[in-house]
Amino acid sequence: MMITELQQTNTTCPYCGVGCGVTVQYQAGEISPTANLTTAQTGSVQPVAGMQAHPANFGRLCVKGSALHETIDHTDRLLYPTMNGKRTSWDKALSLVADKIQQVIHTHGPDAVAFYGSGQLLTEDYYVANKLMKGFIGSANMDTNSRLCMASAVASYKRSLGSDTVPGNYEDLEKTDLLIMVGSNAAWAHPILFQRIVAAKKANPAMKVVVIDPRRTATCDIADLHLAIRPGSDTFLFNALLTYMDQSNALDYSFIHNHTDGIAEALESASASSATFEELAQRLDVSSNDLNLFFEWFRDTPKTVTFYSQGVNQSSAGTDKANAIINLHLATGRIGKEGASPFSITGQPNAMGGREVGGLANQLAAHMDFSAAERDLVRRFWQAPTIAERPGHKAVDLFNAVKEGKIKFLWIMSTNPLVSMPDADDVKEAMKRCELVVVSDCMANTDTTAAAHVLLPAASWGEKNGTVTNSERRISRQRGFLPSPGEAMPDWWIISQVGGRLGHEEAFNYEHASDVFDEHARLSAFENNGKRDFDLSGLVGMSRSQYDALAPIQWPVNDQYPSGRARFFDDGHFYTATGKAKFINVEARLPEVHSQGDLVMNTGRIRDHWHTMTRTAKSARLGQHIAEPYADIHPDDANLRGIKHGDLVEIHNERGHIIVRAQVINDGRQRKGELFVPMHWTNRYASKARMGTLIAKTTDPISGQPELKFTQVNARPFNTAWQGFILSRKDLGPLPADYWIYGVTETGHGYEIADRESPLALIETLKARLPEGDWITLSDPSHNHYRLALLTDGRLQAVIFIHQNYDFGARQWLIERFNDETLSANDRKALLAGRPLGKQADKGAIICSCFQVGENTIKNSIQQGCCTAEALGEALKCGTNCGSCIPELKALIQREALATNAADAMTAE
Ligand code: SF4
Repeated sequence: MMITELQQTNTTCPYCGVGCGVTVQYQAGEISPTANLTTAQTGSVQPVAGMQAHPANFGRLCVKGSALHETIDHTDRLLYPTMNGKRTSWDKALSLVADKIQQVIHTHGPDAVAFYGSGQLLTEDYYVANKLMKGFIGSANMDTNSRLCMASAVASYKRSLGSDTVPGNYEDLEKTDLLIMVGSNAAWAHPILFQRIVAAKKANPAMKVVVIDPRRTATCDIADLHLAIRPGSDTFLFNALLTYMDQSNALDYSFIHNHTDGIAEALESASASSATFEELAQRLDVSSNDLNLFFEWFRDTPKTVTFYSQGVNQSSAGTDKANAIINLHLATGRIGKEGASPFSITGQPNAMGGREVGGLANQLAAHMDFSAAERDLVRRFWQAPTIAERPGHKAVDLFNAVKEGKIKFLWIMSTNPLVSMPDADDVKEAMKRCELVVVSDCMANTDTTAAAHVLLPAASWGEKNGTVTNSERRISRQRGFLPSPGEAMPDWWIISQVGGRLGHEEAFNYEHASDVFDEHARLSAFENNGKRDFDLSGLVGMSRSQYDALAPIQWPVNDQYPSGRARFFDDGHFYTATGKAKFINVEARLPEVHSQGDLVMNTGRIRDHWHTMTRTAKSARLGQHIAEPYADIHPDDANLRGIKHGDLVEIHNERGHIIVRAQVINDGRQRKGELFVPMHWTNRYASKARMGTLIAKTTDPISGQPELKFTQVNARPFNTAWQGFILSRKDLGPLPADYWIYGVTETGHGYEIADRESPLALIETLKARLPEGDWITLSDPSHNHYRLALLTDGRLQAVIFIHQNYDFGARQWLIERFNDETLSANDRKALLAGRPLGKQADKGAIICSCFQVGENTIKNSIQQGCCTAEALGEALKCGTNCGSCIPELKALIQREALATNAADAMTAE
C-alpha cells in the first residue's frame, strides 16, 4: 500500500449548537468513494481532534465530537436516487420531483407544496431551499425541525428586542458572577460549553451557579443551588422574581427609562401571579429558603447570565417563559454587557443558520418577515416571480395539513420527523396520505425514508462544504475532505437542480457553495443601512479561496464591525420601531393536560447519542454509555406499580405505548409523579421506543413549538417469560420478539432481547440467519435458560444468552472474544459462563467513553483509595479528555462511600 502524506482539514462538529471546531487528518490517497466503504477502510482518517484556534472549544471536543471519525463509514448510506424503492437516475428523479411540484401548483396552488428542513442543513442548503419555496414556488410552507428546538426563543427575542438576536456570547458564561441555567442539561447536551463553565467556576470560586430543572441532572454537579421546580412552573418563578426586584428597589431605572417601553404593565402582570414566598414555594414545589436565597443572589449580582434551553422552549408556554426571563434582564439592565445577558442555546449545529436565512415558516429571509416593505425588498433582490404573501404552516400544522390533504407534495430534508415529531404515528399516517413524499438524506434506513416515495442521496458530514452558525452567532466553515459515496450530492445542488427544472435556471445557477454564501451575504446587506441586525456586508464578494479560508466570525460583519460583534444591545439600541426594547406582559400558567395518565413524562437527550442516532449509533463506544432506552422513575411511583429497577416497563397512554428499561432513581434525582425518557431510539434500533408516539400535538400559541416535556402517561411492568442478549459478527436485522434493542459493538453487533413466549422459535430463527458452524449449548428448558455459542473454524460467530431473569453482568469480555482468530481452550470453556475462568469479571459498563473505562474498574480504584474525580483521572485517565463523565465519576464515588458507610455501620452493630 502506498503511504501518502497526511493532509489536514479544519471543519466543525455536526452535532450540538456549541459548534466546536474539529481538525481532521487523513491520507487522501487512501480514501475511495466506493459504495460500501467500511469502518476499516476509513482508517485513513485519523482520530479527530479539537481545533485549537476555534473560539467555541479551543481544542477540546466532547465524546461525540471525538468519535466523528468512527461514524464516516458507508453502512446504511443512501447511495443512489430511488423511486418507489427502485434505483433511478438523478435526471429522472429530479424531473419527477419538479414535474410533481408544477402539477400540484397548477392544480391546487403553491400552498399545496411544503418543505420540511433541518438544523443539520448547512446555511447554503437552507438558503437555496428557502429561496425556492418562498420566492419561486410562492408559498411559505418551509419549516424545519428547529421548530422543535428553539422557535420559542426566536419568538420571544422578536417580541421583546425587535429581532432574533442572541445578545451575548460564550465568554459571558465564563465572566458572569451568577449563572442561572434553566431547563438545560448542558453537561450532556452541550458538553464543551459546560466544561468551559466548570473551568470558569474553578478559576472564580465566587461565581455562583443556579440550576432550575425538575430533574437533578449531571449539570447540577456544579450547582450552588438546584431548584427542582414543578414542570412548567417557570413563569411563576420569574414573574415573582421581577416583582421581588421591584419591591426591593433593585431595578435599573435609568436603563428602563432610556431603552425600554412597557415596564408598568409588565410589573402589573407579573405581580398578578406572584405570591408570598411560602405560597410561591408551594406552587413551585421547592423550599422557601432556597427561593429566598436565589432571589437574594439575583438582587445582589449585577453580572448575571440566564442560560436556557429546551426545558424553556419545548413548552406550550415557551415564548412566555423566555419573555419572563428577558423581562428580568431588561428591568435590571443586564443585557449586552460582559457577563450579563439572557442567553438561549440552540440544540442543533445550524439552527442559527436556519434562522438567518428564513428557514422557519414565519420568516421570509435574512431576518426579514412578511411586511409589504420586506416582501418587496426580498422580491426585488431575488427577482422572484411570486413571493410568498404570508407565513406558512409551522411544523405541527404542516403535517396536519398533509394529513388533511391540503398539502399534496412534501419534501423532507435531512431529518426524521417520524421519530421526533409529537404524535409521530399520526405524522406517519399523514405521509401515507400525501401524493408524493420526497426525502433527501444521507441515510437509507430511517423511519422517515421508509415512508417516502422518492429518496435523494445527500452528501454527509466530511463530504460537503458550507457554513454553520453556532449559538453565539459565530459563522464557521464546514469543509469537505471525503468524496461522497455512490451518487450522493450536496443539498444545495439537489434543490438548485429542481429550481432549474421548474424554469428558474438563472436564479439557481450556483456552481459552488461559495456562490450561495455570497448571495446570502448580499441579501443581508441589501438596503440594510443599519436597519437590520443581520448584516454580512463585510463578507460580500469573497473569492472562493477567501471563502475556503474563512475564519470563525460572529455576525454582523460590516463597516462598523469588520471583525464581528461580540455583544448586541451594549449601545442600548434595539430593532423595534421605537428603538427601545419592549417588556412583555406575561401571564403565568401551568401546562394543560392533553393525555391520559397519572405520571408526567419528560423527554430529552443522553450524553453520547445525537438525535435519532443515525450517526452516533455507528460508534460502538458511543453506544456503550447507555445501551438501552430507559425511563427514570421515582421509587414511590415504581413501588406503587410493582416496578423494580431493571425491569422492562410499558409506558403508555391513549396514543400508543413504548417498552423501555426502568431505572428506579433512589437518590432524589427524579421527582415523584414524573418520568424521564430519552428521545433517541428509533425503529432501526429498538422494537418499540419512539417516545414521540405518546406526545400530544400541543404547541405554544405564538412560536408553534410543541410541548415535548409534559405528557401524561401510565407505566406498568412489561412481564416477559425471559430476557437475554445476543452478540454476533453479523447484523441480524429486526428480531421477532416483543423487546429488542440493537447496537453495534467494537467487534460486531449486539442485541438486548426479551419476549413473552418460549425462546425456542426465536433461537431457530437466529440459527437460520447465522452461518453454519459448531454450536456449544447449555440449556435448562424448564427455566427458559439457554446459552449458546457458535464457532466456525475456532472463531466465535455469535453468542445467545437467555435467562428467566435479567441479570447477566457485563458483556465486555465476550465482545472482545470476537477479536480472537482462534479461541484458546480455556476461553472456549469459559464462553458460556460469559467471563474468563479464574480471573476477575470484566471492566463493566463503560463510564468514560473516551478511554473506555468501565464501572467495575472505577469501583476497584475507588475501593483502593481514589476518592476524587482527579485521582481517578490520574489512575485510569477517565474524565481527563472531554470531561463529560466527571459527574458520573463523582456519583460513583458518592455511592461507594455510602455503601462503605453502610457496611461499617453493620459491622459496628
Ligand atoms: S460540544 Fe460536543 S457535540 Fe457539541 S459541537 Fe462540541 S464536540 Fe460537537
